[in-house]
Amino acid sequence: MRAFEFSRTKTAGDAVMMATAQPEAKFIAGGTNLVDLMRINVEAPAQVIDINALPLKGVSALPGGGIRIGALARMSEVAQHPLVLSGFPALSQALLLSASPQLRNKASVGGNLLQRTRCPYFRDVALPCNKREPGSGCSAIGGENRMQAVLGTSDACIATYAGDMAVAMSALDAVVRIRGPKGDRTVNLVEFHLTPGTTPDVETVLQHGELILAVDLPAAPHAVSSLYLKVRDRASYEFALTSAAVGMNVQAGRVVSARVALGGIGTRPWRSPEAEAALVGQPVSEATFAAAARAALTGARPQSQNAFKIPLAQRTLVKALRQLAGVTA
Ligand SMILES: Cc1cc2nc3c(=O)[nH]c(=O)nc-3n(C[C@H](O)[C@H](O)[C@H](O)COP(=O)(O)OP(=O)(O)OC[C@H]3O[C@@H](n4cnc5c(N)ncnc54)[C@H](O)[C@@H]3O)c2cc1C
Ligand code: SF4
Repeated sequence: MRAFEFSRTKTAGDAVMMATAQPEAKFIAGGTNLVDLMRINVEAPAQVIDINALPLKGVSALPGGGIRIGALARMSEVAQHPLVLSGFPALSQALLLSASPQLRNKASVGGNLLQRTRCPYFRDVALPCNKREPGSGCSAIGGENRMQAVLGTSDACIATYAGDMAVAMSALDAVVRIRGPKGDRTVNLVEFHLTPGTTPDVETVLQHGELILAVDLPAAPHAVSSLYLKVRDRASYEFALTSAAVGMNVQAGRVVSARVALGGIGTRPWRSPEAEAALVGQPVSEATFAAAARAALTGARPQSQNAFKIPLAQRTLVKALRQLAGVTA
């Protein structure tokens, strides 16, 4: 591990100033991703800025029924919060299906949004990886690719976005609140993560020195009636093979509004406007859910070992919609 300077800060403004002054600085919250990557020399910041004393904790109510989740709120705290359980159940479910209880007690919402891919080649500094070392090549294309993405890939990178929370949040119309050297801004979560294109090392719209302050979720009938379903190789402590976050407002047997996002299959949390369009206005039925699943995977590009993810993701979505609507197959 490279030697680094360690600093603590108590205000968001200071945190931004300190990070802006050092091009190789990184914030640390729970450290469950950053320290992990520093140990294996994938990350090597010259300065680590501890932000845990900043007043960015907790979940609070917003006017209009929405909620604000502080960037330093812990995953376990958010999952159990009454406002999350009552208004945004898919988020609670996604968090409880993530990692382990110990990790959830430590890991923060801001850090979770910025967690990096679990692509094994990204984590092995002896092998080429365009995300870790731009221009070095992609070992996963033509290599082991069972876990890799089928949507949003490029010739430079096919790594899956690994997290669960951001998938649920993108179906819940989340907005990320950011403070940077030029002031504050907000970004819709669906625009926050980037597909790899020719620059897989650029993963989000966040600029160096910018700090996530909070995530806001607006109240909506399809948020109250929402669900997260995760399919994985083993029952706990495992990243998703596929997952689906769904929200639906159904009246008189017809879908009035819908939100769909998929995990485990995209290079970023994969919100699907195509699936949503296939649901809205339609009767709650197997045929409607099947059409939404087909629409969601349109354009998927499998690799040599992960074509199974396409039907699996479709079935995951259909099952999630069935469960939410209370329809038995
Ligand atoms: C064994 C294991 C299994 C896991 N399984 C899952 C799983 O199933 N599902 C899942 O979703 N996740 C899973 N995770 C990932 C885990 O959820 C993340 O490691 C965690 O959420 C990161 O949060 P943190 O606070 O520890 O981030 P840190 O490690 O502190 O930071 C991560 C990154 O975010 C940056 N950062 C942190 N806070 C801010 C902020 N406020 N503003 C700007 N930048 C910031 C840091 O600089 C760093 O680059 C797993 C992790 C492990 C180790
Ligand atoms: S898929 Fe992306 S992260 Fe994995 S080796 Fe290729 S470039 Fe690196």
